[in-house]
Amino acid sequence: MKVIKIGGGCLNGKKTISAILDLLSVRGKGNIIVVSALHGITDMLIEGMKSALADDQNIPDLMSQLKHRHMLVAKYLIPSGLPLREYRQDLSRMLAQLERMFYGLNFTREITPRISDHISSFGERLSGQLLSAAMRASGTRSLYRMPHKIGIVTDGKYGDATANLVKTARNLRQNVIPTLKSSQVLFIPGFFGVSENGEITTFGRGGSDYAAAVVTAASGAEMLEIWKDVDGFLSADPRFIEGAELIPELSYDEAAELSYFGAKILHPRTVEPLRKSRLPIEIRNTMNPDVTGSRVTNRKIVTPSVVKSVAHTTDIGIIKIHAPGVGARPGIFGDVSTAVAEGGVNIKSVVTSQTCISLLLAQKDLESARQALQAARPRHFRRLEKEEDIALVSIVGEGMARKPGIAARCFSAAAACKVNIEMIAFGPSPVACYFIVKERDLPKAVTAIHTTFFENPGRSEVGPSQTSDNK
Ligand code: ASP
Ligand code: MG
Repeated sequence: MKVIKIGGGCLNGKKTISAILDLLSVRGKGNIIVVSALHGITDMLIEGMKSALADDQNIPDLMSQLKHRHMLVAKYLIPSGLPLREYRQDLSRMLAQLERMFYGLNFTREITPRISDHISSFGERLSGQLLSAAMRASGTRSLYRMPHKIGIVTDGKYGDATANLVKTARNLRQNVIPTLKSSQVLFIPGFFGVSENGEITTFGRGGSDYAAAVVTAASGAEMLEIWKDVDGFLSADPRFIEGAELIPELSYDEAAELSYFGAKILHPRTVEPLRKSRLPIEIRNTMNPDVTGSRVTNRKIVTPSVVKSVAHTTDIGIIKIHAPGVGARPGIFGDVSTAVAEGGVNIKSVVTSQTCISLLLAQKDLESARQALQAARPRHFRRLEKEEDIALVSIVGEGMARKPGIAARCFSAAAACKVNIEMIAFGPSPVACYFIVKERDLPKAVTAIHTTFFENPGRSEVGPSQTSDNK
């Protein structure tokens, strides 16, 4: 048995969805299918909360848009008559629940983390309901089971929950495994689980990949297939590098690092539940389903160029906290990170020196972090500085930490095209090195580094390709 995860990027348009259901009617039987919301629906729900808060008159319009998006697909895939009538009823029932929550939010004048998670979970609920109904209409037995009913248990942290694998495994063994049938397709909505107190909690944006990994590990499945609208991880962003190559096989660490900073292929936490039992991930393009894209496995392959990918992101900013002697003052970093965390901000990375702590944050978090630090008492710093016009480049590959000269080659490549590297971090992960450049220099930097490693990999002092298993 395997778990197949279907991304929201490919649940886009009735014809694409119909093609995916055709594939599932063959490949999905006997397996568990974890689904994302239809393309754009989660954004609609999140925006919807703001407009519902502003004015309850906006709610009917929002509800009819949601209904329309799902009915459009349903009318194409489900024959009119009884099956379509039944689906319409089920959909209305689910939307009525959601509508009550939007009114509740307007009444209480507040978008709490609790209601926000609850409302955002509806995208996946709606798509699970729709796909399962459409599958049945096409003559394949199918049902959907809700994460909170079957017991995908979380730690209760809103917006960034972690699953409890032991408890989830126990629940799935009881509630799901006995109901699996080789003639049937079982859908489970991704993105959320339920805390021990019964609260709906999401795994963060893009979290259906992680949900699928949790279901894979907890159900005793042999692997996770992720169906997307791309083949997998590439050696660089194809918008910058025309000849970017597909990476056929990556280690768990490589996939995690690439996802953390840059490549939007997997949710960065997807590998967590899988690595202990060494369950592989295969990425498949639904437009090209017979070809395996990237495989993520337990093997650590060192390629001749050592570097497998040059990823980047512009969704990054820095807060520099200038304070003399920070390197020698115990506790200051603790105070800084507490202040920032209390402002609801996640620190992506930190670089410190004697006189400055630099916090790497998502763009959207810069201002809240700055305000939280300004307000913190005692105040440890002389000055705060915010940098926004930057980009982060990361190079990722197994074996980097052991091969001399990798970082040096990046810097020479950058220097040769007059790109200034503002900050560098090498060491926290043995498979990744990242550095900061000005945003306007990004395409030049990526191109230069990619060329260095991919167009003449032989130039490195590295021996022939080797493979070593991670024991
Ligand atoms: N629908 C959720 C999101 O857009 C989760 C996911 O698709 O992975 O973030
Ligand atoms: Mg995704």
